[in-house]
Amino acid sequence: MYYLICALLSGGVLTAICVPLFRRDNSLESAIIEETEWDLLLRKKEILLGNIQDLDFEFKCGKLSDADYKQVRAEMTSDVAVVLEHIDKLEKSLDLDTLIRRETDARKGDTKSKNQTFCGSCGAKNPPSNKFCSECGTQLNRS
Ligand SMILES: [Zn+2]
Repeated sequence: MYYLICALLSGGVLTAICVPLFRRDNSLESAIIEETEWDLLLRKKEILLGNIQDLDFEFKCGKLSDADYKQVRAEMTSDVAVVLEHIDKLEKSLDLDTLIRRETDARKGDTKSKNQTFCGSCGAKNPPSNKFCSECGTQLNRS
């Protein structure tokens, strides 16, 4: 008897742990992709800013002519501006897009697994949000 209870309990605990883990997989994957894209942009920004610092230093040391310095620095500045713009866009879009994607993914999962809620009493099909059958009022059992 004790063994049976333990088996039931651990089974329930396992499902409780595994189901959310399984569901989180998709959003976790996209989060990782977004983070690497984000990391790449940040690294690019660091490199470009470093290059500008080097350029400034070289100019101060007299290794570059005024015209060369101005031209190269303008090019580098526009590169940084592009990267900063990307970062800005990603920063603004990241939260909302990630949230929306997570929401829609969760909904897709819901409609697949839970949309088919049939009444145990009369067999009527009910939307997953219903706690009671819309036909006969019987409480709906959902696993
Ligand atoms: Zn019913």
